[in-house]
Amino acid sequence: MKVVHVAAEMAPLAKVGGLGDMVGGLGKELNKIGNEVEIILPRYSFLKCQESSCTSFQSYEKGKWHEAIALNMNYKGVKVSLLDSKEGNSYFNRPNIYGYPDDACRFIYFSRAALDYLLTKKENIDILHLHDWHTSLCAVLYKDLFQELGVKIKKIVLNIHNLEYQGICGTEDLDRVGVEGENYLSSERLRDTSVLFSQNLNLLKGGIIYSDAIVLVSPTYSREVLTKEYGYGLEKVLKEQEHKLVGILNGIDTEFWNPENDSFIHNHYDQNMAIEKVIYSKNRNKELLRKRLKLKESSNPLISCISRLVPQKGPELIEDCLNFTMQHGGQFVLLGFTTIERIQNRFKEIARKHEHDENLSLNLVHEESLAHQIYASSDFLIVPSLFEPCGLTQMISLRYGTIPIVRKTGGLADTVFDMDEHGISVGNGFAFNEFSKKSFEETLNRVFNYWKNGCQTIQKAIENGIKIDYSLKKTAEEYMQLYLDLINF
Ligand code: ADP
Repeated sequence: MKVVHVAAEMAPLAKVGGLGDMVGGLGKELNKIGNEVEIILPRYSFLKCQESSCTSFQSYEKGKWHEAIALNMNYKGVKVSLLDSKEGNSYFNRPNIYGYPDDACRFIYFSRAALDYLLTKKENIDILHLHDWHTSLCAVLYKDLFQELGVKIKKIVLNIHNLEYQGICGTEDLDRVGVEGENYLSSERLRDTSVLFSQNLNLLKGGIIYSDAIVLVSPTYSREVLTKEYGYGLEKVLKEQEHKLVGILNGIDTEFWNPENDSFIHNHYDQNMAIEKVIYSKNRNKELLRKRLKLKESSNPLISCISRLVPQKGPELIEDCLNFTMQHGGQFVLLGFTTIERIQNRFKEIARKHEHDENLSLNLVHEESLAHQIYASSDFLIVPSLFEPCGLTQMISLRYGTIPIVRKTGGLADTVFDMDEHGISVGNGFAFNEFSKKSFEETLNRVFNYWKNGCQTIQKAIENGIKIDYSLKKTAEEYMQLYLDLINF
């Protein structure tokens, strides 16, 4: 099957969060099971890679045709094509992937360029697989323009990794790429559902309406998005399109996330070892992490958090956990990156307050090596999210023998099973229901009690967790089935 993914991120080349992990890992797994996969990305200027060939094509923007190029390369067996205008577009010549006032225009341009590129290539595509609002417009452009021009695509799949981000833009932004924005300003088409933006277009809504299948990244999230609480204004649209909705649990790239040979860590271990050996290796890694982060030696638990610091991830509960841990003699490590000034200032202030505290390490950066070392050293990892479409950090931590403490929502509810609720044969972590300090602290109390008096429960949680298979290999098989169902329909 010829499968083309169009996305804003692909790990490890260009990654901000779980979207990148998933696109890179799924592409590789789909390729392994016999598909011909191509991943189309913008050519971000920070990408330093060696292309093997180059395809020139014409793309349309701002009322005129211009020369564009696709740099084709092979990444671990997967074909990757990086698109840009020939003279180097200022849209992608920037240090970050997102966070610019013209983000909508950047990805509208990219969506059109992706279809112009496919038109030039004249291939028969079985599945066009889009991800989030950034590339949702491809579905609209294909059905209303490119199908007639001769691009051959059998079915379009849209993956929604996070419904909070929808790509709101003006009608004139669509005019730039050759379709009349005003034509889309109706409630059956792309008009945004909110009163505030009722004169604007919603790109994700376009993807939902125009795609043949919509995949939410966990079964629980696929039900949650139909409610007002989680639907971010699109719950009605999703309800109308419910027949196209599927929940497929994301997974992790178990080659990249592998404590057996992870090049960022010193003491390797794996799921087939005796649990005592796993804990021994983790403790050696913990000693090194403590040196790196200037933390003191301690026999109390090391609790970590690796997260984008945005309201979705519960920064206020992260702070509560930090305080709770310090008050109870534990150690807390945060690896969190944010572009939100208010949140950044808050954590900087906490860091200043605890400047000489050797039980706390706040790292407000994005750093891959440190992430791996934290997963391989920590006793617990928290994910206290307000909502969580799937969440990868809890799956990675399970694989690294770190016990997750999560809020029971979305993919977290599908992957973490509380020791007290599910018992020692199934339990792999700790979970709380309400998004509140009280509910979280009750669970943290249980955790600290087990740490002091329940060594067996702790060991059992690690043992059950490290053995679970949350690999993208399994996820890829489910996507394969969906592709086959769509094509044979
Ligand atoms: P989201 O996609 O919402 O950010 P996920 O849990 O799905 O959250 O995926 C997060 C991914 O990003 C994981 O691979 C995690 O290790 C990584 N990550 C998050 N924050 C950082 C950071 N500050 N430094 C390095 N990696 C990070």
